[in-house]
Amino acid sequence: MNGSSTAATSCDAAHQKPSRDAIPLGVAPRLLLRSYTMLSRNQKFTAIQGDVELTAEISPCVFMYPGYGLQLTVKLPNGGNTIVSRKDIPIETATEQDCQALMETVKVLPCKTCQKPAFDPSTCRTNRDGDCESCFMAKLNAEFEKDMKKEDDKLKRDDAKYKARGYTHRVHAWIHPPSGSDYELMMWMINPTPEQITAELKKKKSADTTDYKLIEL
Ligand SMILES: [Zn+2]
Repeated sequence: MNGSSTAATSCDAAHQKPSRDAIPLGVAPRLLLRSYTMLSRNQKFTAIQGDVELTAEISPCVFMYPGYGLQLTVKLPNGGNTIVSRKDIPIETATEQDCQALMETVKVLPCKTCQKPAFDPSTCRTNRDGDCESCFMAKLNAEFEKDMKKEDDKLKRDDAKYKARGYTHRVHAWIHPPSGSDYELMMWMINPTPEQITAELKKKKSADTTDYKLIEL
């Protein structure tokens, strides 16, 4: 591996000779040579930990800004990725060995829920907290479902409360303010006509007074 990259270096150096003039005096020759072997954006790296194969690629942002430090996106075979970086190694001079060494700082643990591979949160940036990607997503979805059910239950209680007070309908509207973001609005009314609903939505300064659903209690 080392031998072939040295050959490629001297070849590239010969081709790019004119650009050497642009490099200021006093730059170490080793640095010059390394700059001709700049890593390419589609290079892939792998590392084995136990029976888990991690794969990594250089994050695309690294190539967009000159002097950006080395940054890798590391992936687990069962989904999920994390980012590791060495801001002190500019991409222009980073080597494959730098990438490999950086990648090996990411450690894998058995998922705390299902034992499948998960990132060790103490070795990389992750909010998965020791869970694998699918357990993390399952917990997130369960949380979301719980919130939805809570909202739904509250709406049912409100409907019952207003029905007991003599209201007949709920208007479920989306308000589109002239500026700012849209929001949902619930209004309880007694046998409302379309004109009455439109008038209410105009009061809220909605740009579209037809965006509502009428629900009979
Ligand atoms: Zn898991």
